Amino acid sequence: MHAPPVEPSLSRPDSSSAAANRNSRGHWSLAVSIVPIAMRPNPQPDEPAVSLEHARLLSDVELPLTGGCNCGAVRYEVTEPLVRASYCHCKRCQRRTGAAASAQAHPVPGTFRIVAGQEKLRMWKPPEGGGEKWFCGDCGAAIFGANTGHPESIGIRMGTFDEDPGVRPTVRQFVAYAAAWEPLPDDALPRFPESRHAGGAHPL
Ligand SMILES: [Zn+2]
Ligand SMILES: [Zn+2]
Repeated sequence: MHAPPVEPSLSRPDSSSAAANRNSRGHWSLAVSIVPIAMRPNPQPDEPAVSLEHARLLSDVELPLTGGCNCGAVRYEVTEPLVRASYCHCKRCQRRTGAAASAQAHPVPGTFRIVAGQEKLRMWKPPEGGGEKWFCGDCGAAIFGANTGHPESIGIRMGTFDEDPGVRPTVRQFVAYAAAWEPLPDDALPRFPESRHAGGAHPL
């Protein structure tokens, strides 16, 4: 197996103070809502357009979508149908979840907001670079990731939705680091060895 491209240092303290700073400056939902319109997600060239299955799932979804953490302190809602979902097999996601991969759902920018427990949210941002990982400071449940450098800048952890969020993962990324103990399923999804957002990225 390869080492992750950028290893988070285990000796560094987590940056929960960064969350406190952010919280003292303003609400997270404000930060989300200022994502420029130019960053609205567009279909990737190697991914299928919205399928009939996707359309059917979306038609069954009641808005707003809701979700939250294990202890119930942090709650969120999503006010428009989700755009897509993806799997990430990077080592950070493996450590963060304890699982072989993490499934994320990507909202239309500005449609995801924390509605309770803002003050309980904590964030870890890898010092070497990479997106912010937001979680409940009381129960530790991972809620969402944020990376303004990505066209899909928010990734809501799919397991935190109360009900079926109406999207299914359509792509896998960082499969070069996939866990040896759980083979990638033969599901025909496009597989990117590294980030699917990297310049020149193409699926395997
Ligand atoms: Zn919690
Ligand atoms: Zn990842």
